[in-house]
Amino acid sequence: MIIAVDGPSASGKGTIARALAQEFGLPYLDTGLLYRAVGYAVARACGDPDKESDALAACGFDDALLDLPDLRSETTGGLASRVSVHPAVREALLERQLAFKNQIGGAVLDGRDIGTVIAPEANAKLFVTASAEARATRRFNEMKAKGEQPSFDNMLADIIKRDARDSGRAAAPLKPAQDADLLDTSEMTIAAAVRQAIMLVRDRIEGR
Ligand code: C5P
Repeated sequence: MIIAVDGPSASGKGTIARALAQEFGLPYLDTGLLYRAVGYAVARACGDPDKESDALAACGFDDALLDLPDLRSETTGGLASRVSVHPAVREALLERQLAFKNQIGGAVLDGRDIGTVIAPEANAKLFVTASAEARATRRFNEMKAKGEQPSFDNMLADIIKRDARDSGRAAAPLKPAQDADLLDTSEMTIAAAVRQAIMLVRDRIEGR
């Protein structure tokens, strides 16, 4: 069984995808981490993330990078969004995602183009959204809890900019697959969103 979870940053899709993997006993791949690793590797090599050849050169990153806490930062998220517009980068990361998806028993993958490009045949597809304000508030609270001093306005502006880049690009833009179930988590607690996601997936796989 393959479950595809897509949506913009801070929508809750990662938490939901991990919970679905646990619920259905499936392995889980956060595909955003792959783009983050490329963004991070370009910056470390002093390359230009907006230049396709520089970004492509970083696609052979060392897997140890995937465990770096820095990969989860807002800065790396911005770099990931910039390298991910290049078709050659998407192509370079394709094989790895397909291999993960095709393992025996299936998998849960989350990202931006899982339901549309990576796994159009998925048994269940969720598109998880939330308003930009709700997502900025979540990020803001997360950073404050870590003892940082974030600016809400900057956070909101970054989210809006990243959404526009991810949705507006020509290659595999962020958009719901036609047969995806939409889940708006703006007004939901994490626990409620997870419960709703599990219900939607069950309905799909049981053909209701
Ligand atoms: O999901 P996450 O915030 O970690 O993703 C970082 C960036 O990687 C996104 O803003 C997006 O530009 C890119 N990405 C993508 N396709 C995916 C997953 C992530 O283009 N399947």
